[in-house]
Amino acid sequence: MSRTVEVPEYEVHGEVRVNPGRTALIVVDMQNDFVKEGGTLVVPDAEGTIPTIQSLLALARGSGMKVVFTQDTHGQGDPEWTMWPEHVREDSWGWRIVDEFAPQEGELVIRKVRYDAFYGTHLDHILRLWGVDTLIICGTVANICVHYTAASAALRWYDVIIPKDATSALFPFDLESSLRQSAFLFAGRITESGNIKAEEAGSAVFRSTIEEASPDR
Ligand code: ZN
Repeated sequence: MSRTVEVPEYEVHGEVRVNPGRTALIVVDMQNDFVKEGGTLVVPDAEGTIPTIQSLLALARGSGMKVVFTQDTHGQGDPEWTMWPEHVREDSWGWRIVDEFAPQEGELVIRKVRYDAFYGTHLDHILRLWGVDTLIICGTVANICVHYTAASAALRWYDVIIPKDATSALFPFDLESSLRQSAFLFAGRITESGNIKAEEAGSAVFRSTIEEASPDR
Protein backbone atom coordinates (compact mmCIF):
# COMPACT_ATOMS: atom_id res chain seq x y z
CA MET A 1 0.00 0.00 0.00
CA SER A 2 1.42 3.38 -0.92
CA ARG A 3 0.30 6.62 0.65
CA THR A 4 0.90 10.21 -0.34
CA VAL A 5 2.28 12.50 2.34
CA GLU A 6 3.44 16.07 2.17
CA VAL A 7 7.08 16.86 2.91
CA PRO A 8 7.12 19.48 5.68
CA GLU A 9 8.96 22.70 4.78
CA TYR A 10 12.68 22.77 5.45
CA GLU A 11 15.03 25.61 4.65
CA VAL A 12 17.30 25.35 1.63
CA HIS A 13 20.00 27.93 2.29
CA GLY A 14 20.78 30.39 -0.49
CA GLU A 15 24.38 30.95 0.56
CA VAL A 16 26.58 29.08 3.01
CA ARG A 17 29.99 30.52 3.88
CA VAL A 18 32.63 28.28 5.38
CA ASN A 19 36.10 28.85 6.72
CA PRO A 20 38.18 26.42 4.63
CA GLY A 21 40.76 26.00 7.42
CA ARG A 22 38.11 24.48 9.66
CA THR A 23 36.10 22.59 7.07
CA ALA A 24 36.29 19.13 5.51
CA LEU A 25 34.48 17.83 2.45
CA ILE A 26 33.34 14.24 2.99
CA VAL A 27 32.52 12.27 -0.15
CA VAL A 28 30.52 9.24 0.91
CA ASP A 29 30.72 5.85 -0.82
CA MET A 30 31.07 6.97 -4.45
CA GLN A 31 32.19 3.44 -5.36
CA ASN A 32 31.61 1.50 -8.56
CA ASP A 33 29.05 -0.90 -7.04
CA PHE A 34 26.81 2.05 -6.08
CA VAL A 35 27.52 4.38 -9.00
CA LYS A 36 28.50 2.61 -12.21
CA GLU A 37 26.64 0.38 -14.62
CA GLY A 38 27.45 -3.22 -13.74
CA GLY A 39 27.61 -2.46 -10.01
CA THR A 40 25.70 -4.75 -7.64
CA LEU A 41 23.70 -2.06 -5.83
CA VAL A 42 23.44 0.85 -8.24
CA VAL A 43 21.71 4.07 -7.22
CA PRO A 44 20.46 5.31 -10.62
CA ASP A 45 20.94 9.01 -9.82
CA ALA A 46 24.41 8.65 -8.31
CA GLU A 47 26.39 8.82 -11.56
CA GLY A 48 24.69 12.11 -12.39
CA THR A 49 26.14 13.71 -9.25
CA ILE A 50 29.75 13.11 -10.35
CA PRO A 51 30.21 16.55 -12.01
CA THR A 52 28.65 18.31 -9.03
CA ILE A 53 30.91 16.48 -6.61
CA GLN A 54 33.86 17.28 -8.87
CA SER A 55 33.02 20.97 -8.49
CA LEU A 56 32.95 20.56 -4.70
CA LEU A 57 36.32 18.79 -4.83
CA ALA A 58 37.72 21.68 -6.88
CA LEU A 59 36.41 24.16 -4.31
CA ALA A 60 37.85 22.13 -1.43
CA ARG A 61 41.23 21.55 -3.04
CA GLY A 62 41.52 25.11 -4.28
CA SER A 63 40.68 26.70 -0.94
CA GLY A 64 42.63 24.34 1.31
CA MET A 65 39.77 22.39 2.85
CA LYS A 66 40.47 18.87 4.01
CA VAL A 67 39.08 16.10 1.82
CA VAL A 68 37.82 12.74 3.07
CA PHE A 69 36.47 9.83 1.03
CA THR A 70 34.55 7.04 2.70
CA GLN A 71 34.77 3.57 1.24
CA ASP A 72 32.18 1.01 2.28
CA THR A 73 34.05 -2.25 2.79
CA HIS A 74 32.72 -5.76 3.33
CA GLY A 75 34.02 -9.32 3.21
CA GLN A 76 32.73 -12.88 3.25
CA GLY A 77 30.07 -13.45 5.89
CA ASP A 78 29.30 -9.77 6.43
CA PRO A 79 25.76 -9.51 7.88
CA GLU A 80 25.02 -6.53 5.57
CA TRP A 81 24.89 -9.04 2.71
CA THR A 82 21.86 -10.67 4.31
CA MET A 83 20.01 -7.33 4.18
CA TRP A 84 21.34 -6.10 0.84
CA PRO A 85 22.77 -7.78 -2.24
CA GLU A 86 26.47 -8.46 -2.01
CA HIS A 87 28.29 -5.15 -2.49
CA VAL A 88 31.73 -3.55 -2.18
CA ARG A 89 33.66 -6.75 -1.57
CA GLU A 90 37.10 -5.62 -0.48
CA ASP A 91 39.60 -5.32 -3.37
CA SER A 92 36.92 -5.92 -6.05
CA TRP A 93 36.14 -3.49 -8.92
CA GLY A 94 32.85 -2.60 -7.23
CA TRP A 95 34.65 -1.64 -4.02
CA ARG A 96 36.89 0.93 -5.69
CA ILE A 97 36.08 4.62 -5.58
CA VAL A 98 35.03 5.81 -9.05
CA ASP A 99 37.96 6.76 -11.28
CA GLU A 100 36.76 10.37 -11.55
CA PHE A 101 37.57 10.96 -7.87
CA ALA A 102 41.07 9.56 -7.51
CA PRO A 103 42.03 10.65 -3.98
CA GLN A 104 45.06 12.93 -3.98
CA GLU A 105 48.06 12.83 -1.67
CA GLY A 106 47.13 13.92 1.84
CA GLU A 107 43.45 13.12 1.39
CA LEU A 108 41.96 10.62 3.79
CA VAL A 109 40.20 7.43 2.74
CA ILE A 110 38.12 5.89 5.53
CA ARG A 111 37.20 2.24 5.11
CA LYS A 112 33.92 1.85 6.91
CA VAL A 113 31.93 -1.23 7.83
CA ARG A 114 28.51 0.30 8.57
CA TYR A 115 26.39 3.19 7.33
CA ASP A 116 28.00 5.59 9.82
CA ALA A 117 31.54 6.58 8.81
CA PHE A 118 32.38 7.35 12.45
CA TYR A 119 31.45 3.88 13.71
CA GLY A 120 34.57 1.87 14.47
CA THR A 121 36.86 4.23 12.50
CA HIS A 122 39.38 6.94 13.40
CA LEU A 123 37.47 9.64 11.47
CA ASP A 124 36.55 11.74 14.52
CA HIS A 125 40.12 11.56 15.84
CA ILE A 126 41.61 12.81 12.56
CA LEU A 127 39.04 15.60 12.11
CA ARG A 128 39.81 16.88 15.61
CA LEU A 129 43.58 16.74 14.99
CA TRP A 130 42.93 18.83 11.88
CA GLY A 131 40.92 21.38 13.86
CA VAL A 132 37.88 20.79 11.67
CA ASP A 133 34.45 21.69 13.05
CA THR A 134 32.40 21.95 9.84
CA LEU A 135 31.61 19.13 7.43
CA ILE A 136 30.22 19.32 3.91
CA ILE A 137 28.79 15.84 3.34
CA CYS A 138 27.82 14.53 -0.10
CA GLY A 139 27.71 11.26 -2.04
CA THR A 140 25.43 8.27 -1.79
CA VAL A 141 23.11 6.95 -0.48
CA ALA A 142 21.43 10.12 0.81
CA ASN A 143 19.20 8.48 3.41
CA ILE A 144 21.62 5.72 4.35
CA CYS A 145 25.36 6.32 4.58
CA VAL A 146 25.23 10.09 3.95
CA HIS A 147 22.45 10.48 6.51
CA TYR A 148 23.91 8.29 9.24
CA THR A 149 27.32 9.89 8.83
CA ALA A 150 25.76 13.37 8.99
CA ALA A 151 23.70 12.42 12.05
CA SER A 152 26.70 10.91 13.78
CA ALA A 153 28.73 14.06 13.02
CA ALA A 154 25.99 16.30 14.36
CA LEU A 155 25.75 14.29 17.58
CA ARG A 156 29.45 15.08 18.01
CA TRP A 157 28.62 18.79 17.48
CA TYR A 158 30.11 19.17 14.03
CA ASP A 159 28.34 21.76 11.92
CA VAL A 160 26.81 19.80 9.03
CA ILE A 161 26.17 21.10 5.50
CA ILE A 162 24.47 18.94 2.87
CA PRO A 163 24.52 20.08 -0.77
CA LYS A 164 21.38 18.32 -1.95
CA ASP A 165 22.38 18.30 -5.62
CA ALA A 166 25.48 16.25 -4.72
CA THR A 167 23.57 13.42 -3.05
CA SER A 168 21.39 10.66 -4.45
CA ALA A 169 18.91 8.09 -3.18
CA LEU A 170 16.96 5.15 -4.56
CA PHE A 171 13.61 6.97 -4.21
CA PRO A 172 12.63 10.67 -4.06
CA PHE A 173 10.83 10.03 -0.77
CA ASP A 174 14.04 8.79 0.83
CA LEU A 175 16.02 11.82 -0.32
CA GLU A 176 13.40 14.30 0.88
CA SER A 177 12.82 12.59 4.20
CA SER A 178 16.54 12.46 4.98
CA LEU A 179 17.04 16.15 4.10
CA ARG A 180 14.02 17.14 6.16
CA GLN A 181 15.28 15.07 9.08
CA SER A 182 18.78 16.59 8.85
CA ALA A 183 17.39 20.13 8.89
CA PHE A 184 14.74 19.44 11.53
CA LEU A 185 16.61 17.20 13.93
CA PHE A 186 20.19 18.42 13.99
CA ALA A 187 20.12 21.81 12.31
CA GLY A 188 21.99 20.58 9.27
CA ARG A 189 22.14 23.24 6.60
CA ILE A 190 20.71 22.04 3.31
CA THR A 191 21.89 23.93 0.24
CA GLU A 192 22.98 23.58 -3.38
CA SER A 193 26.67 22.99 -4.22
CA GLY A 194 27.07 26.30 -6.03
CA ASN A 195 25.94 28.20 -2.94
CA ILE A 196 28.87 27.12 -0.79
CA LYS A 197 31.53 29.82 -0.50
CA ALA A 198 34.92 29.25 1.09
CA GLU A 199 36.20 32.35 2.75
CA GLU A 200 39.09 32.75 5.17
CA ALA A 201 37.92 34.78 8.16
CA GLY A 202 41.12 36.88 7.98
CA SER A 203 41.01 37.74 4.29
CA ALA A 204 37.63 39.47 4.40
CA VAL A 205 38.92 41.81 7.13
CA PHE A 206 42.10 42.43 5.14
CA ARG A 207 40.15 43.42 2.04
CA SER A 208 37.99 45.91 3.87
CA THR A 209 41.06 47.47 5.52
CA ILE A 210 42.65 48.07 2.08
CA GLU A 211 39.45 49.65 0.75
CA GLU A 212 39.25 52.03 3.68
CA ALA A 213 42.86 53.11 3.19
CA SER A 214 42.50 53.70 -0.56
CA PRO A 215 43.03 57.36 -1.60
CA ASP A 216 40.29 57.00 -4.23
CA ARG A 217 37.61 56.73 -1.63
ZN1 ZN B 1 27.51 -1.71 2.92
